[in-house]
Amino acid sequence: MSNDNIRRLQYQIESEKKKISNCIHDYNEPFFNPDTIREAYGYNMVGHGSDVWYEPQGYRDVKVDRWTRVCKICGNSQHTNKLLVLVVVMTVSLVNF
Ligand SMILES: [Zn+2]
Repeated sequence: MSNDNIRRLQYQIESEKKKISNCIHDYNEPFFNPDTIREAYGYNMVGHGSDVWYEPQGYRDVKVDRWTRVCKICGNSQHTNKLLVLVVVMTVSLVNF
C-alpha cells in the first residue's frame, strides 16, 4: 500500500469518527445479536517452589446474550447485555408513565 492510500484511508477514518461524534443519534430498536467469546477453563499449576502460577487448561467458545442497536443516521452501533437493556426499558417505561 502506498503512502497516499494510507493518508486517504486515515482521512476517511477521521471523517467517519467526526460524523459519529457530531451525530445526534437516532437508534433503531435493539435486536438480539448473540456474541461468541473465548473463555478459559480449568487450571494447571506451572512452575516450581515459590515461583508458581496457574494457567488455563484451555479455552472454549461461549455464546453470550447481546443486543445491538444501530444509529439510522451515522451507522454507529452500540451493544449491551440483557441487564442493561432491562434497565433502559424500565427507565423508558417510567418516563412514559
Ligand atoms: Zn448517529
